Amino acid sequence: MLNQGLDRVRLSLRGSLRRPRQSHTGAITTATRYKENLMISRRAQSIDASGIRKVFDLGATLSDPINLSIGQPDFDALDVIKESAKRAIDTRKSGYTVTQGILMLRMKLREKFGLTDESGKDVFITCGVSGGLMLGYMAMLDPGDEILLPDPYFCLYRDLALMLNAVPKYYDTYPTFGLSAERIEREITPKTRAILVMNPGNPTGYAAVERELNDVVALAKRKNIWLIYDEIYSAFSYDHAHVSCLGKYENTLVVNGFAKSHGIPGWRIGYAIGPNELIQNMLKIQQFSFVCAPSIVQWALVDGIDVDLSKKVAEYKEKRDFIYQALSSKFSVEKPTGAFYIFPEAPGGSGEAFVEKCVANNLLVIPGSVFSRRDSHFRISFAASMETLSRGAEVLNKLA
Ligand code: PMP
Repeated sequence: MLNQGLDRVRLSLRGSLRRPRQSHTGAITTATRYKENLMISRRAQSIDASGIRKVFDLGATLSDPINLSIGQPDFDALDVIKESAKRAIDTRKSGYTVTQGILMLRMKLREKFGLTDESGKDVFITCGVSGGLMLGYMAMLDPGDEILLPDPYFCLYRDLALMLNAVPKYYDTYPTFGLSAERIEREITPKTRAILVMNPGNPTGYAAVERELNDVVALAKRKNIWLIYDEIYSAFSYDHAHVSCLGKYENTLVVNGFAKSHGIPGWRIGYAIGPNELIQNMLKIQQFSFVCAPSIVQWALVDGIDVDLSKKVAEYKEKRDFIYQALSSKFSVEKPTGAFYIFPEAPGGSGEAFVEKCVANNLLVIPGSVFSRRDSHFRISFAASMETLSRGAEVLNKLA
């Protein structure tokens, strides 16, 4: 019975991750064209459901797996936010808010980031960083425009571009995952409209240093293209202070949120900071799509925005140290400096083949091909209890 179950897992992992896929630049390949359904838009057909979800679904077929696949903190919403969310419900904060988000929360953010009327920049509240990215892409990119993404990338970056008929292009960051302006410059063409930088990175756990970022900012400035800066993991920088991108270059969109830092990924809230004209255009699109971020959550964050996260971050740093230590003798792996991921090379060279072995051993991790044009690595999330981490490390070391 157990063997049958594992065979099913193996088969479906092969089926879901190894079938011919759409190319990374989004052309619908001959292999997938035959599936085209005329009742469904090419836009919808140009993307595939997230590979991470597929691993989750496979996880559901295992009973009590060691789960190191999840990209969210393992702590619950902080108490102060829970309390103020309850208060918001009890005091009927249930109506629409203005499109840009409630004034009290925006004022707090303006103060936190030193935004003044003279700065030429503004902030508004988005439905998560995903919402901010979608609006930013829509306000910046026309069909055929190119956007430069890091490889590895967070999967949404690519699929969002494909949905808009924009063209994702990539700058390689292997093997150390550092930011290199030189490598980015090599990929710039007359069609490049934006460079996306994530710092710290998912799935790499790489936190960039000031010099690297300054070089990329100087490049974007010189070429007069947008810089999109996703700093959703800004709270989790373990070895040096997180590098902010504010005040460096006017054509920059910063997106950030509270999902990871405040333990509320399902509450769908984030914010976007950018030049006034861009923000105005993103707001037009928000008005006719998301409308506003969830009202209860906006009110909850008025109290929650300033909470001290240092204890949580210290715990995650300990987990980072533990998992790196546990794996570094048997795996070729960079020590992550931020976020809560570690991205080792897969023994045997194929992330997908190695993840199949892990799943067969009741361990869930994610093949690097979900985040990359390469299939050489796999992602471990260390946002898990120490007990789960050490069980996971034991299985990994055994398989290596
Ligand atoms: N950017 C990165 C790098 C992420 O890892 C994630 C979530 N895993 C997001 C954006 C999306 O964040 P949100 O839940 O706020 O939409």
